[in-house]
Amino acid sequence: MKSIALIDVNNFYVSCERVFNPKLENKPVVVLSNNDGCAISRSNEAKELGIKMGTPWFKFKEFAKQENVTALSSNYTLYLDMSHRVMTLLSKFSPDQEIYSVDESFLDLTSFKSKDLIKYGQQIKTKIKQWTGLPVSIGIGSTKTLSKLANHIAKKNPSFKGVCNLNVMDEDTLETWMSHFPVSDVWGVGRSLAPKLNQLGIISVLDLKHADADYIRQQFSIVLEKTVRELNGVMCIELKDVEEPNKEIIVSRSFGRRVRDKQELIEAVTSYTSRAAERMRKQNSVATSLYIYIRTSPHNDKKQYANGVNIPLFQLSDDTIILTNAALLGLDYIYRDGFDYQKAGITLCNLTSKDKVQGNLFSDTISNSRMRVMDSINQRWKGKLKLGSEGITKEWEMKANFKSRNYTTNWDQLIIAH
Ligand SMILES: [Mg+2]
Repeated sequence: MKSIALIDVNNFYVSCERVFNPKLENKPVVVLSNNDGCAISRSNEAKELGIKMGTPWFKFKEFAKQENVTALSSNYTLYLDMSHRVMTLLSKFSPDQEIYSVDESFLDLTSFKSKDLIKYGQQIKTKIKQWTGLPVSIGIGSTKTLSKLANHIAKKNPSFKGVCNLNVMDEDTLETWMSHFPVSDVWGVGRSLAPKLNQLGIISVLDLKHADADYIRQQFSIVLEKTVRELNGVMCIELKDVEEPNKEIIVSRSFGRRVRDKQELIEAVTSYTSRAAERMRKQNSVATSLYIYIRTSPHNDKKQYANGVNIPLFQLSDDTIILTNAALLGLDYIYRDGFDYQKAGITLCNLTSKDKVQGNLFSDTISNSRMRVMDSINQRWKGKLKLGSEGITKEWEMKANFKSRNYTTNWDQLIIAH
């Protein structure tokens, strides 16, 4: 039997903000999407107040004031840098890591069978908390679908202390848990498939587990059939089978050998960006911004360096040329001479569906868009280290009214201990 762990940061964006502003602990906090549009991350206290995911800011502005809810503009430079730190730490706990999203990672712990995996999970959790300040929940199961469910159970029930291992649970207890959760909580089911499943009498996770897999394939898809089998402990879902489009696309790789030459880094970054853009076009999305990082090995090298930068795109784009230009300008900004680099990575961020984007945004020629990106980056350079806080255009800056500092990526914005 496999032991797959899913590690997920709790209320990720809000938790990042809390690390650097502890006054926000135990208070209702929301993080707003670009242009302070709508709620995209909520603290538990904000959830308890009934603020729903995706609620437009203008609709709960007054309510937030009354209830003392802190609303913050999104600070992707901070979140992506924190994400990178978490993922790097997690990579030390297993040789097999799959970064699923900005705040979620699968680790294959099968080879650690001799260990008490709940204890091991607690160690992971403690380490992440100590080194980054972020709270995580960990779910362990024999398939990815079960590890997702385990993570959900761990989050909802404090008695698990953040780590739930379904593999050591007896069958009756497991099925009782499954009967407590609605089928929409299953990975890949969500709100879109739940109504039809409900009509067929499949209400809880347990109902789906007991459903006839062949019948589910006929009624729905092979993907959902695999979900049913996975709930029964048969590992068969590859990540690409899950049809919900990714909100971020990450392409990162360690190099075959250490790289010192900038030209080689340029080639690597160009290739990663091309691949990420290709994947993004496949799922019919466009990116709002791009994150690039480079680093030396955290283990061996005497001289260590790691840095990353988030590049907001002036226009939503899925264009490889535009994205590569942004990535290379980012590289230019963070590259330092004289280090032996081990790894680089690209994240296309905050993806939205192309269908939702107004057509006129794409009527610009490529070179036009390209020039704007370049101009915007150059605009940032004049401000030198004010990079993160200044935003890309005045318009942008004005709308990010409640943005925190880039505590981890900008020397000018470090926290000062008095
Ligand atoms: Mg999360």
